[in-house]
Amino acid sequence: MTTAARTGAGIRFDHVTVAYGKHHEHTVLDALDLTVEPGEVMALLGPSGSGKTTALRAVAGFVQPVSGRVLIGGRDVTGLPPYRRGIGMVVQQYALFPHMKVAENVAFGLKAHKTPRAQIPGRVAEALEMTGMAGYADRHPRELSGGQQQRVAIARALAIRPGVLLLDEPLSALDAQLRSGMLAELARLHRELPDVSILYVTHDQLEALTLADRIAVLDQARLRDCGTPQELYRRPRTAFTASFVGTANLLPVTVRGAGGGVDFAGRRLNVPAAAQAADGAAATLCVRPHLVGLGAGGPAGNTLHGTVTEVQWRGATHRLYVSVDGHRVLADVRELRETPGLGDEVALHFAPEDAVLIPAGLAEDGAHHG
Ligand code: ADP
Repeated sequence: MTTAARTGAGIRFDHVTVAYGKHHEHTVLDALDLTVEPGEVMALLGPSGSGKTTALRAVAGFVQPVSGRVLIGGRDVTGLPPYRRGIGMVVQQYALFPHMKVAENVAFGLKAHKTPRAQIPGRVAEALEMTGMAGYADRHPRELSGGQQQRVAIARALAIRPGVLLLDEPLSALDAQLRSGMLAELARLHRELPDVSILYVTHDQLEALTLADRIAVLDQARLRDCGTPQELYRRPRTAFTASFVGTANLLPVTVRGAGGGVDFAGRRLNVPAAAQAADGAAATLCVRPHLVGLGAGGPAGNTLHGTVTEVQWRGATHRLYVSVDGHRVLADVRELRETPGLGDEVALHFAPEDAVLIPAGLAEDGAHHG
């Protein structure tokens, strides 16, 4: 493997606002503050239209903010054209030139960056080797599979030895099996280029959970949450994050302070975090389906009673849909001696420490914002 000296560059969004319309009345990115450390993989995760691509294009220089600054490697690049920002970019539709061979496609970016002619063949070979495409230099894009074309696109982006790599849904045009292979490839590439910062736009939580050091959750032009995958999964701060990063049971509860409890549909549940919340406050209790078991819990646990409305077999688990006083509770159960039938009355349990209490204000913030 050829390793070239690369200097990592972090990315900083400093209150970046992007708006469209005659009077900038449509805000599509609202005062984004976010820092990607040198060598860090940051996923921008959110539903379609939340502003992810806009944020990435603001770093690339294809979108001009109405206010705020973009910094790369500590340098304000807000006014610089894309080719002077030292970035490599890969988009969903490979965007290779069909009439050029693989090697020419990879060389194209180098020429655009005014790389000295003599260095170009070596750089092309290096990038193709890194992406496992060394044997395909003389092929045309139409002679490659979708996954191979995307590798060439990545090689083209890496050839300029960027400090920052911008990936916009790079796997979404591939089928499921290729996607998981490419995910592993990207993780390997990042290990080989530990100083390169990667900003990765995706609406796919699995890609974000697998690849990212940290995930920034966007919704309706706003940054809702940012943290490591583990933090966001285990301790989501908002109901939006809880339901977007993984699957969540979100139960409306009322805090019954002192003893560390909450009321849910007329029952008391033990939730240690409730001891810190104001008595009588409305909140959302988040419990992951795989932490909900079938059967009654012990005296210190929490038990819910309800009616089975749906059973899905998912290979390793059964997902039970249980209606508890009209609230839907999901339980992913690993070993079932007997599969419950629709309409069966069942008990469910979860441990107090497996429940996350989300204060109402934050929970609502994720749900609606204009
Ligand atoms: P995402 O990547 O999260 O799907 P985008 O950043 O592509 O979202 O888009 C955010 C919003 O900005 C969308 O509502 C989109 O319609 C709007 N938008 C994007 N580009 C333009 C444009 N050039 N002119 C007007 N509106 C745009």
